[in-house]
Amino acid sequence: MSTQTFVIVGASLAGAKAAETLREEGFDGRVVLLGEETERPYERPELSKGFLLGTKPADKLYVHAADFYAGHDIELRTSTAVTALDPGAHEVVLDGGERLGYDRLLLATGASSRRFPVAGADLPGVVYLRRMGESDDLRTAIQGASRVVVVGAGWIGSEVAACARMLGAEVSMIAPEAVPLERVLGPEVGAVYRDLHADKGVDLHLSTGVDRIEGTDAATGVRTSDGTLVEGDLVVVGIGAAPRDELARAAGLEVDNGVLTDEHLRTSEPDIYAAGDVANAMHPFYGKRIRVEHWANALNQGPAAARNMLGAGTAYSRVPYFYSDQYDFGMEYNGYATEWDRVVFRGDPASREFLAFWLRDGQVVAGLNANVWDQADGIKALVRSGARVDADRLADPAVDLGELLG
Ligand SMILES: Cc1cc2nc3c(=O)[nH]c(=O)nc-3n(C[C@H](O)[C@H](O)[C@H](O)COP(=O)(O)OP(=O)(O)OC[C@H]3O[C@@H](n4cnc5c(N)ncnc54)[C@H](O)[C@@H]3O)c2cc1C
Repeated sequence: MSTQTFVIVGASLAGAKAAETLREEGFDGRVVLLGEETERPYERPELSKGFLLGTKPADKLYVHAADFYAGHDIELRTSTAVTALDPGAHEVVLDGGERLGYDRLLLATGASSRRFPVAGADLPGVVYLRRMGESDDLRTAIQGASRVVVVGAGWIGSEVAACARMLGAEVSMIAPEAVPLERVLGPEVGAVYRDLHADKGVDLHLSTGVDRIEGTDAATGVRTSDGTLVEGDLVVVGIGAAPRDELARAAGLEVDNGVLTDEHLRTSEPDIYAAGDVANAMHPFYGKRIRVEHWANALNQGPAAARNMLGAGTAYSRVPYFYSDQYDFGMEYNGYATEWDRVVFRGDPASREFLAFWLRDGQVVAGLNANVWDQADGIKALVRSGARVDADRLADPAVDLGELLG
């Protein structure tokens, strides 16, 4: 039996899946999973979907059944924050001062909601969404609000706006971009989301920033940078997330927009690994480091890091994948497009049943299937292949995606 101790900091999806994998792979030393939240590990996507709507109960969100951890001899310690790492001594320091030794350490500390740096942002009625309790509170607040103002038109802002409308609230959305999700999807596909929200009755204030949040004792509205007052007594701020890399930074690990790792998810400290939202990991397929905040990345990188902690030496090279559901419009996205020169649609975007492809130099760098559910594998294969495609054939529904692989 191994006398080694593997410690995982961050008891959420990446951390919990890593712990599971250590046992699956036969590691029989000590596994300690440390998390500052009160809940055992759960998945966050439903916090801005079914759980927020009240249609999906908490027990469907947990990564594992309550007895899984004890059953697999995993020491899960919730409500336990790690306050420091000591790589030299191979120890972590817990909030009560206890020091815990490790042979290998995984940082799965995730990300946190970016705070809004404007006047009035600390007023009651201004809220963020990252945790289960925040989603619970938000549902109640939406139900009691005269109008919900969503600041930010990224994934969380857009999904919260959709849920709030579905819960019957009046909703305004304010964002600096010309269309929702513009930074990730670009103007063409972002316009589909703009029209969707407008059709569902969201009062859109796009291409404008926020000057301040108005109110004396509580939020009463948002003043946009063009001087408009958007009234509302509940302000949901969804302006992105920041990696929780502070422990690593303080301990002297290499950090830059997350904890830097090699393709094996190993940090600049040989016995410390990182996975999930916090990891800015070298990606062999892209030939550079990428950090993505996607459910599938946490799901797969946690296990990949665990295997490498056991010596597998396998590079993590999955093509990124994420999904979103807003109203009755669902989509999946495969790839990683930061720059492209063309977007090609297959199907009419106005029908809200279509595929979209982002092309760079004739290669598909990402593809999305919206309300079409049998094409994701074909899209992923195209992205992986790096094949140069004929745009007309790509747009033609009669051409099987497999024929374009080259
Ligand atoms: C509302 C919402 C909706 C989302 N919807 C989607 C979606 O539709 N599709 C999609 O692909 N992705 C979605 N995501 C993203 C997805 O949930 C994340 O990518 C995923 O949660 C990342 O998992 P993680 O384990 O890396 O980090 P996290 O889930 O952030 O977990 C990190 C954990 O570490 C803990 N922690 C941090 N520091 C310490 C410390 N010092 N000591 C102890 N514990 C610590 C944190 O409290 C947290 O519990 C959504 C995220 C949110 C918030």
